[in-house]
Amino acid sequence: KPRLRFAPSPTGFQHIGGFRTALFSWLYARHTGGQFILRIEDTDTARTVEGAVEDLLKGMAWLGLDIDEGPVIGGAYGPYYQVQRKALYQQYASQLIETGHAYRCYCTPERLDQMRKEQEAKKLPPRYDRRCRYLTPEERAANEAAGIPWTVRFAMPLEGETVVHDQLHDDMVFKNADLDDMIILKGNGLAPYHLAHLVDDHLMGITHVIRGEDWIPSAPRHIQIYKALGWEPPLMYHVPNILGKDKKKLSKRRNAPSWSDFQREGYLPEAVFNFLALVGWSYDDKTELFTRDELIRVFTLDRIGISSGIYDPDKLLWMNGVYIRQLPLDELVTRTLPYMERPAAEGGLPDSVQRPLDRDYTKRVLELEQERLKTLGAAAPAVAFFYVRDLTYDKAMLIQKGMDEPRTRDALIQVRDLLTGLEEWKHEIMEPPMRELAKTLALKPGQLFGATRVAVSGSNATPPLFQMMEVLGREVTLKRIQQAID
Ligand code: GLU
Repeated sequence: KPRLRFAPSPTGFQHIGGFRTALFSWLYARHTGGQFILRIEDTDTARTVEGAVEDLLKGMAWLGLDIDEGPVIGGAYGPYYQVQRKALYQQYASQLIETGHAYRCYCTPERLDQMRKEQEAKKLPPRYDRRCRYLTPEERAANEAAGIPWTVRFAMPLEGETVVHDQLHDDMVFKNADLDDMIILKGNGLAPYHLAHLVDDHLMGITHVIRGEDWIPSAPRHIQIYKALGWEPPLMYHVPNILGKDKKKLSKRRNAPSWSDFQREGYLPEAVFNFLALVGWSYDDKTELFTRDELIRVFTLDRIGISSGIYDPDKLLWMNGVYIRQLPLDELVTRTLPYMERPAAEGGLPDSVQRPLDRDYTKRVLELEQERLKTLGAAAPAVAFFYVRDLTYDKAMLIQKGMDEPRTRDALIQVRDLLTGLEEWKHEIMEPPMRELAKTLALKPGQLFGATRVAVSGSNATPPLFQMMEVLGREVTLKRIQQAID
């Protein structure tokens, strides 16, 4: 059974690109009935960011990416934090030294710095000059006796080629002469990514590695380590980066959204899930809406594209609207209430509106708004007029095209009188006489209804007028019309 992992480094908060890659692994694990493992690659302790792991776990839970093995829940191949696996990497680094595939390097940071500067000046690629690879046994013993701190470097083959088999790309061939003798164990005894991930993928029985294409240049070096350890590498899938609409790589620095941005704005996790699955993967180049179960059923790795996926926020917004329209009304209410009840500064209704909101009233309000709603966060500004005591708007808005102030005022007086006389406050009862009234006043329905709409809502964009007035109620509606007249 396939075993796939998501192996983020907590050196920052993951943006949605990382989650997309995790989603591919998760989907394939679920598609095959295999396992999905979360491993925290935290050996770069100096760059570890506080709270990054917690944020990641929350994000995965939000998206519904349940894990079979990992931090918190554990598993048979743990621990799942690399810092807790330090001894393992040391063991394999020693093994590589013993078999002649690695060596201790005693070069000081100053020397390495100097070397790098000289290479830079000569426009050469930064590369260790392998001085310590060729130390005599006596020199080595002297360094040890002097207690000089060391790192471990892998001794790359100097000639020949390394072929990287990637399931998505053709075989990629690299010249060994270009491969650096990279560090596989740092001075502090921790292994960098290059050794640690590979030891773990092997020991954890990972069968398919899905990771960003940024790692392609490192892949031949990893292949050499696999060879030296006598291990078979897992199947590799280097997936393209996600680009913004400007075709530039999405990155934290360039404001790539994170899962919590989506949550805050009121995107539904199931919509984001659907959306992310289609960034760099497609089923048939046209189907866009998939439920989670459908995706699990149809997701195969051969349909991952090798051209970059584009992050298109407009498409996400559209898709979210589709998912919102599909929600049963009660569910929509349950999920939207917390957004509306947030403080105004966080995007909720004005603070003057009393919390908690009346659920039944909100249900009637959202029933009218559901059709137009694109995010749950957009509800509060759109429906605030249903809740506030006093409307504030520019009275000039009342005057519709082709009308003037006196005519508008007169029309609203007629509307007030008509509505006051209605026996029943129902939208289907309001509409016919209102249409009649427009005729009598020689106005287009749009003119009369438009003025009325602004009077009762303070806005030009609202749900259907009569349904809206029905929900607002007779008292509030008439009071607002009166205020528009005054
Ligand atoms: N820790 C690596 C990263 O966050 C993982 C790459 C991989 O999946 O092997 O980029």
